[in-house]
Amino acid sequence: MARRIAIDLGTTNVLVFLPKKGIVVNEPSVVALQAEDNKIVAIGHEAKQMIGRTPESIVAAHPLKDGVIANYNISEAMLKHFINKVSGRIRFSKPEVMIAVPVGITSTERRAVIDAVLSAGAKQAYLIKEPIAAALGAGIPIATPSGNMIIDIGGGTTEVAVIALGDVVAANSVRVGGNKIDIAISNYLRKKHNLIIGEQTAEEIKKRIGNVIESKKESKMEVSGSNAITGLPESLIITSDDIVKAVKPPLLEIINAVKSVLQQTPPELASDVMDKGIILTGGSALLRNIDTLLTKVTGVPCQVAEEPLFCVVKGTGIAVEHLSAYKKSILWARE
Ligand code: ADP
Ligand code: MG
Repeated sequence: MARRIAIDLGTTNVLVFLPKKGIVVNEPSVVALQAEDNKIVAIGHEAKQMIGRTPESIVAAHPLKDGVIANYNISEAMLKHFINKVSGRIRFSKPEVMIAVPVGITSTERRAVIDAVLSAGAKQAYLIKEPIAAALGAGIPIATPSGNMIIDIGGGTTEVAVIALGDVVAANSVRVGGNKIDIAISNYLRKKHNLIIGEQTAEEIKKRIGNVIESKKESKMEVSGSNAITGLPESLIITSDDIVKAVKPPLLEIINAVKSVLQQTPPELASDVMDKGIILTGGSALLRNIDTLLTKVTGVPCQVAEEPLFCVVKGTGIAVEHLSAYKKSILWARE
């Protein structure tokens, strides 16, 4: 049997899954380049560590933007790196590779993914829509006529979809996710406290004390940055209620995206969604209380999937392992 590989080529993280083995790669989608000649010096974890700390001669590139390839050559190099890494040294045959892509991907963007996968060494490339992969990875039986709703909140985008009979019935994708939440946190601290912080610090604050609902026992954290007026280093105590206020604007965009899909959903399927609830996946589903907030504003019970960061790659792995069973859900295949 040909070897099969599943890849979640996310804006923030690249994950690789091998059927019967599980997740073998989980690294940031970052490539470090030599400024002078664009030569690649590091990929993944190693490259991410260089951000903000690199000498001017090295620049960090994010080859994906909003869920699609923004820089073809760097994306191809990154894919080749990870495919080679999991293929081992002795390769008898080229692998078949399935990649999860956003629902709203254009045909040009789709072609770029396929070309990059093939030139990175795959024998064959398959694409699957991300919400379908996310649902499969969350353990939802996607092939039934009954409707299921998935909200995948990643770093760059939020994808909302209703799935029935193995395909997407209604969907919406917005360019809001964890990155915009981080930016909202750093903007808020600059405006309210004159404190300037870097993007990694904003993300760290979000993970440590981030919340979307005010609570009686708020958590606190000491944050260091530089004072916007004096330019000198400064430390402040920030509370989780500060973060609740800071992240309101991007959350409102996510809420509106969810509402618009609920409005597009045919009544029969809407009643299934009401019965079964909505499943949240993607790394930003880990933001504290986001399920409670979405439940409150939509009136539909929302629940975070187990291991939300891994749902898309696990689901892609299930689909690539059982290609014929999930034929209907495969968007594209090419040799
Ligand atoms: P993508 O599909 O865009 O690559 P992921 O699904 O991997 O994105 O999610 C990455 C996002 O999840 C990042 O913005 C990251 O900050 C966020 N994230 C990861 N862990 C947490 C956490 N514990 N709390 C809040 N956000 C988190
Ligand atoms: Mg993703």
